Amino acid sequence: MYEINLLKKLVALNTNSATKENYKECAQLIANETRKLGMKTKIIDVPAPDKKPRPNVLAELDVGAEKTLLLVTHYDIVPVGSGWHTNPLSLTIKNGKAFGRGVADDKGAIVEALGAVRNIRKSGKKSRFNIKLVCACDEEVGGKYGLRYVCQRHKKDVKADLALVIDSGLENIIVGCSGVIDGKITVKGKAWHAGYPHQADNPIYKAITIVEEIRKWGKKIEKRHSELKSPKGSPHRKVWNRLTVTVFKAGEKANVIPGEAVIEFDYRLLPEQKLSEAKKEIREVIKKINKKLGINSKLRILSEHSGYITDEHNPIVQEFKKYVTKIFGRKEIVGQLGAMDGTYTAAAGIPSIGFGPGGGNHHAPDEFIALKDIRKMKELIVKFCKG
Ligand SMILES: [Zn+2]
Repeated sequence: MYEINLLKKLVALNTNSATKENYKECAQLIANETRKLGMKTKIIDVPAPDKKPRPNVLAELDVGAEKTLLLVTHYDIVPVGSGWHTNPLSLTIKNGKAFGRGVADDKGAIVEALGAVRNIRKSGKKSRFNIKLVCACDEEVGGKYGLRYVCQRHKKDVKADLALVIDSGLENIIVGCSGVIDGKITVKGKAWHAGYPHQADNPIYKAITIVEEIRKWGKKIEKRHSELKSPKGSPHRKVWNRLTVTVFKAGEKANVIPGEAVIEFDYRLLPEQKLSEAKKEIREVIKKINKKLGINSKLRILSEHSGYITDEHNPIVQEFKKYVTKIFGRKEIVGQLGAMDGTYTAAAGIPSIGFGPGGGNHHAPDEFIALKDIRKMKELIVKFCKG
């Protein structure tokens, strides 16, 4: 099977996003493959400050159609890790499943996409869409020199009528995701011997009251809902604001009052919420809390990411859904609670959805993908293209 043979080669290359080893080899392997399939191919090697390679593969099959479908995948993986029952860098087929690091996230998507292109080229019937394919690097570390760069700096190359990000599973059709703001609050006090608390200023007690105020505000904004439906199992029908304190750090020794306490939080925005406004909001909230409690804590934004929303009524989205229903059964159109790469393609002006590639144990031992899902995803892309 073409897909399995290619997946074997991809899995054998440890494209660890932390070390970037084998990035060049993997991009070259993919580019060779897309060229063999008659796709116009280029590698965009993004310059990064660490001087390590950041090759992104961009391939195009122009069939002279009016519309273009962009398939979005990534070839980098999270570290292999331990606890595997098979060799994570050697594809193992067992009971209808293929095991190996990256098969579900996201190398399986690459072989599904290429398998579909191969099928479309072989068959006589013309595709309704020109097909573009991105195989990006660095997805697991934010995509600054991967898809984000490609979408910002090579807008023409990725221009399409629909972007299908094959990196979000088969549960739902994803048409948007929440933005994220991660922040850090530092509370200063005065460190001292615990035998003399009257001479200290304990930042832990202050930090606790700040945490409590953040929790209260988080409860309040939970009531704000997006237009976008939330996935099954959510406590709300629509995607909602979430604010969670995720780090609380202070002190090192039982008999020493620390001089500093640190709180970190994660704020998930509504897909339609503007990043700049949300940042302003969180700054004002912390300011208000400081004032109320008479504390002078400092807020620093650690990272920020906007969300996006694609109109589910867009005819091309509905058309895609029709084919998903034919092949996978009824799936809901929902938003993703975590972040998703559709943010970058949407920012480039492309209606963006997420579906596939299938599989499980992402970022964990025994990552797998069912052979049947590889076959069905390929079929989905082929049928959607051929109509
Ligand atoms: Zn992924």
